[in-house]
Amino acid sequence: MSETLRIAAVYAHPDDGEFFAAGTLAKWAAAGHTVYALCATRGDLGSKRRDVTRDDLAATRAAELGRALHLLGAQPPILLGFPDGFLRDHAAALRERLIYWFRRLRIDRVLTFDPWKRYEIHPDHIEAGRIASEAAVFSCFPLLHPEHLCDGVDAAQPKEVWYMMPTEHRPNRIIDISATFQKKVASVLSHSSQIEMLADWFVKGANPQALTDEQRAQLQQGTESFLDGMARGVAGMAPGIERAEAFFAQPVGPGHFQNYQELFMEAAGVPPAPPQLG
Ligand SMILES: [Zn+2]
Repeated sequence: MSETLRIAAVYAHPDDGEFFAAGTLAKWAAAGHTVYALCATRGDLGSKRRDVTRDDLAATRAAELGRALHLLGAQPPILLGFPDGFLRDHAAALRERLIYWFRRLRIDRVLTFDPWKRYEIHPDHIEAGRIASEAAVFSCFPLLHPEHLCDGVDAAQPKEVWYMMPTEHRPNRIIDISATFQKKVASVLSHSSQIEMLADWFVKGANPQALTDEQRAQLQQGTESFLDGMARGVAGMAPGIERAEAFFAQPVGPGHFQNYQELFMEAAGVPPAPPQLG
């Protein structure tokens, strides 16, 4: 491998990356890149149960994320601890934290939500994508948060932001996840508290709090089939690939002029280049 990258996946909630990017993160980790996940909120609203506290739920979800990242070969999670559902009210503090971590970890590539996605009704997803993008742009300016710049931490800028499962723009990166698909399935299933909420979707009439062994097996099978269908559907964009994940990668810094040019050409009716395969 020619270059070893330091990659930061920025999530709003502990399970956010697993559905759309886990196969790619596992592939990058296996290729020798260092993969980090920074989770903005505690995920402490993510349950329909009445018999758990928000603190207990946050602890459960932190442990689930830790297991998922371990399965993917990523580093232990970096938990930023903002309250679930309210990232918008903490935008400035979140931006400062992300700038700090991008600098401290010397991040080359950021992976996050597309903040321009229409019909995205969860405000934390929009906010995580928006603020991660801003942090990627601003982390190189030493006059911003100069208090970070000590003990070997320097101003530095990620080169690219990759947006997961874009719907506002044709993907320009298609990643073959055939070899890491089973790791993706295992990482999604690590989030038991969230999969339980999907119980009724995959096992009609099931009580998520009292699943039989048979129902649990059906739930796992349903989750795997759902992920398989999604991966095969994305792979349809790239002949010869069986299962894939799709991204829109945007250069940061001076490189973003390149994107303006590409988008202008596209608006002018010039067909875009085919997506890069990875
Ligand atoms: Zn989420």
